Amino acid sequence: MFLSWLRSVMLVCVFVTSTGDVEARYEELGPSRGEAGGRMDNKSEVVNRLRTAFRSGITASEQFRRVQLSNLKSMIQENEEDILKALQKDLYKPKFEAVLAEVVMVINELHYAIDNIQRWMQPEYVSKTFATATDDCFVRREPLGVVLIIGTWNYPLQLLIIPMVGAIAAGNCVVIKPSEVSASVDLLIAELIPKYLSQDCYAVVSGGEEESKALLQNQFDHIFYTGSKERASSILQAASVHLTPVTFELGGKCPCLIYGTVTIEAVAKRIVWAKFFNAGQSCVAPDYVVCSKKTRDSLLPALCATLKDFYGERPQDSPDLCRIVSQRHWTRLTDLLKKTNGTIVVGGEGDHEDKYLAPTVVVVAEDDILMKNEIFGPILPILAVDTLEKAIDFVNDKEKPLALYVFSNETSIINTVMEKTTSGGFCANDGMIHITLPGLPFGGVGASGWGSYHGRWGFETFSHRRACMIRGWALEKLNGLRYPPYGENKLSWMRWSTSAKTACLLM
Ligand code: NAD
Repeated sequence: MFLSWLRSVMLVCVFVTSTGDVEARYEELGPSRGEAGGRMDNKSEVVNRLRTAFRSGITASEQFRRVQLSNLKSMIQENEEDILKALQKDLYKPKFEAVLAEVVMVINELHYAIDNIQRWMQPEYVSKTFATATDDCFVRREPLGVVLIIGTWNYPLQLLIIPMVGAIAAGNCVVIKPSEVSASVDLLIAELIPKYLSQDCYAVVSGGEEESKALLQNQFDHIFYTGSKERASSILQAASVHLTPVTFELGGKCPCLIYGTVTIEAVAKRIVWAKFFNAGQSCVAPDYVVCSKKTRDSLLPALCATLKDFYGERPQDSPDLCRIVSQRHWTRLTDLLKKTNGTIVVGGEGDHEDKYLAPTVVVVAEDDILMKNEIFGPILPILAVDTLEKAIDFVNDKEKPLALYVFSNETSIINTVMEKTTSGGFCANDGMIHITLPGLPFGGVGASGWGSYHGRWGFETFSHRRACMIRGWALEKLNGLRYPPYGENKLSWMRWSTSAKTACLLM
């Protein structure tokens, strides 16, 4: 007990305050930045500081939240070059993909929140019964308090900042914990956030698993976690100590069904783009394709041709292909290719030093190793299943996916798949695009995640919906009918006046 307390006191988080080139700073500080220069803070001190600020009521006003959101927008806009550099360093992320999936998505969310925050904060009046006709009855969105957002490495900026937008808009104080795996972005965020946002209300804590665990010993009012489901269990255990509610943005295998008539070249282009964007390291990347043998046989040459069009004869030389984030993940993926019993149709080559793995397409059977766990890399298994019904059964036998894709020219097939399956998100005739709209909730279902965010959904996730009733003093005679001594007449009156049907009379 004492040792664990001591460890949490000794572990430090770093707030890097100096300016300068990100790469140079990263080289200078090295990966164990917790022990390096900068402003040091104990984690519980950080949480306490934020809690004091929250209790002061500073985050309550729309004005304060709006200013912080605008500052966050300036932070992204003024530091775009450094952000792109850090993403290039961590993942060799092409500028095009970095701008689209990180910078633009974050800016869009910020615009959306800034434009809508006033409306979101309004009390929501609800319908009343006869007995409450003269009262004010409404739902008030209130901030939860001090919330923790833990991010992961594949979209290291977007997956931290978009939840943060919702948390700030909802009036919370926020601790963010970037992934140590994407170290350059982690460093940059730790450097920029204190420069642009209120240090009393928002903090960055850097570090890996140990730091995360130490941080989780503190009491938060909500924990928002993006990452693998294995780590989610450990977070849930920590959260259960304080009965802290959690949002989990997890992963899983996102299926991609192709049935009925399709224009195969267009399908191939959309699948290749969605699958190999970020080198397949997207939680909503199509994990595997299921289609009939006939479709498979026409799809394979179309996929090969598309890959050549997109990335050339030697994809390793293409500037448009990301790298695998770490040697550990590279080894995990190449091990899968060693163990598969499937037939590699294209790709398969890798370069350990360069963390490069070629875009790879493999024809597999149902029980292949590639069909077991989420791939999270540039390997696309294709499984032939004769009929749409059997394909739906196959999908439904697995855990509920984060996203499910269907490609077909036939509306009836799209509707059948939508109605007979479930998933966090659903997109017909494309991949991944559905997550770009702030109007649509983003999140999983079952094992792929709990809760959602983006746009208003993020604001709701970080808000408490407080049921409020402000009663007046009128009609005390009628009110008095609920008091003892009880009687049948009084009961009939109460039945009528509190019935949902009387709400209709008042409309
Ligand atoms: P990771 O290694 O970056 O870990 C995620 C975060 O958890 C990091 O900040 C890490 O420091 C922290 N962490 C590690 N161990 C911990 C522990 N024991 N307790 C608390 N925190 C801990 O990322 P990962 O886990 O490899 O994530 C990859 C997974 O994330 C994939 O399954 C992917 O599908 C999923 N993902 C989901 C989404 C989504 O929005 N649903 C987005 C991206 C990735």
